[in-house]
Amino acid sequence: MNADALILQVGFVLKENIGYTRSFDYEIPELVFADNHAVSNFELVMSAIRTPQGLHLEGEVSSDFEASCSRCLRSLPTRVVGPLSETFHYPAKDEEEFIITEGGEMDMGPLVRELLVVSEPSYVLCETDCKGLCPTCGINRNNETCDCESDNIDPRLAILKTLLDN
Ligand SMILES: [Zn+2]
Ligand SMILES: [Zn+2]
Repeated sequence: MNADALILQVGFVLKENIGYTRSFDYEIPELVFADNHAVSNFELVMSAIRTPQGLHLEGEVSSDFEASCSRCLRSLPTRVVGPLSETFHYPAKDEEEFIITEGGEMDMGPLVRELLVVSEPSYVLCETDCKGLCPTCGINRNNETCDCESDNIDPRLAILKTLLDN
């Protein structure tokens, strides 16, 4: 399913009085964004509150994420959860980033994409004591041992060591 699924028709909420709250819950097994980034088991859970500015959204987005161990690169499927707290403006002025069209359409695709990206973990470990890959021969030190010199030498000092060895 492409991200057009995240263009919500919210005209009926805008007709309500200030303070009116409506819950939304979407589950999309495969979601493909405009830039072709795809996520699976996507879920959006939020409350939309009618405010003088438009709609204020509070909730969270989540999806599966194929992470890999930062040391040994082992695949580590995980769940990304991003908090959602944003106002979509109605009626919209030009300078506002998140707007609702005159027809009552609210495109959440770009916001959801951004929330998922910033929530993706940048550093994950399969085990806190993961031994990682050997920098010389590339074997996984969790499963195998190698005969490479294992002096965990600082890369800056390694240059010095090379000079001394010659
Ligand atoms: Zn690892
Ligand atoms: Zn090695």
